[in-house]
Amino acid sequence: MHNGVMDGEEFTSTGDPVCWLEHVCDECGALIDGALPATCWRCGAAVVAA
Ligand SMILES: [Zn+2]
Repeated sequence: MHNGVMDGEEFTSTGDPVCWLEHVCDECGALIDGALPATCWRCGAAVVAA
């Protein structure tokens, strides 16, 4: 007889309104802070919203 208590691990979803993936530079992977389109602060590539 199973006596294990199923403790429901609650995954608190980080409901970010902005998809941060769009803010990652395709060229170097730097995280762009601010509104898009923007110029990558690291490599200078144009980062635009997908
Ligand atoms: Zn970059």
